[in-house]
Amino acid sequence: MAKEKGLEKIKNLIGQQFGNLLVLSYVDIQEKQGSHWLCKCKCNKKIIVSYKNLTQGKTTSCGCANIKSKGEQKIAEILN
Ligand SMILES: [Zn+2]
Repeated sequence: MAKEKGLEKIKNLIGQQFGNLLVLSYVDIQEKQGSHWLCKCKCNKKIIVSYKNLTQGKTTSCGCANIKSKGEQKIAEILN
C-alpha cells in the first residue's frame, strides 16, 4: 500500500455539492486551513475554498449569496 504523506487526510470532495458550490477538483495549496478545492458556484463563477470552510458550511457560494470571507472573495476576483 503506497502512502503519500499529507494526502492521507484529504477526503475526496469532487462532485459534492455544498450550498451553491459544486466541487470540481483538488487544488494543491499549502495552507493552515488544510486542503483547498476548486468549486463552481451556481452563478458559474469558479472559486477556491478550503476544506474546512466547505465542510463546516462557512462558504456556500462565491460571494453572490452572502459574503463571509473577504479572502475567498479576493480569490474569486483573481480567477475571474
Ligand atoms: Zn456565485
